Amino acid sequence: MRPLLERARDNLRGREVVAVMSGKGGVGKSTVAALLAVGRGNTALVDLDIFGMSTPRLFGVVGRLHEVEKEGIRPFEVGGVKLFSLGGVVGDRYVVLPGANEGGVVEAILAFADLRGVDRVVVDMPPGMGEALLALERVARFKPVLVSTPSAMSVKVVSHLAEYLVERGAKPAALVLNMAYVECGGGRVYPFGRGDDARRLAERLGAALVELPIDPELESYVGRIGEYRGPAYRELLKAGL
Ligand code: ADP
Repeated sequence: MRPLLERARDNLRGREVVAVMSGKGGVGKSTVAALLAVGRGNTALVDLDIFGMSTPRLFGVVGRLHEVEKEGIRPFEVGGVKLFSLGGVVGDRYVVLPGANEGGVVEAILAFADLRGVDRVVVDMPPGMGEALLALERVARFKPVLVSTPSAMSVKVVSHLAEYLVERGAKPAALVLNMAYVECGGGRVYPFGRGDDARRLAERLGAALVELPIDPELESYVGRIGEYRGPAYRELLKAGL
């Protein structure tokens, strides 16, 4: 077996891996991944969304670089989370990876992340079904948490991802319906509809449907997401995620 793959498998062995995934970008996947990691203890957040890295910005570590020691890549310890991101290797710049190298980068990060003391690894996956997903499948068994908005288009695309995961024996644990409603004047407004398509999908999958509100406060936590304990965070906790 290739040594990198073997090392990545060894590194994740015995740890719970929660893979946060979406069909489309911009649905709140990175935000949900961050909220599944903060305040949980012994948790690492690994940003594998290598073309759309958001976690360094969410945690206020843009431009900082990981130190590399003999034990591996040292995480940023921020907001109570051990954070790893390719952004901490290349800096605040874009990355171009021709061919199939995305999978190699994913394997390398998972192989060299120093996960000592970590029981739970939350991975922020790129949207869709590409090389990163195939690489994660090679490395570890994982618990998929799907993220979508209630829009029919977003739900349709995530349903294809869900079908694929079921076929591969990685049944989604939950469908997080992000930006499902806004609390106002004591009631709820559903700007993108009631999420019937998502509810049907979750039922078909036997997965929990977890509705998160649009929280206008959330944007002000960019840079210090580790401090956020607002309604979106509380709903995820309530759902046991
Ligand atoms: P993705 O990872 O799917 O591309 P992000 O997590 O980067 O999406 O979120 C996209 C934008 O939407 C960010 O500006 C984020 O702060 C905002 N956002 C995500 N979820 C919510 C929410 N529940 N309420 C308010 N804003 C949100």
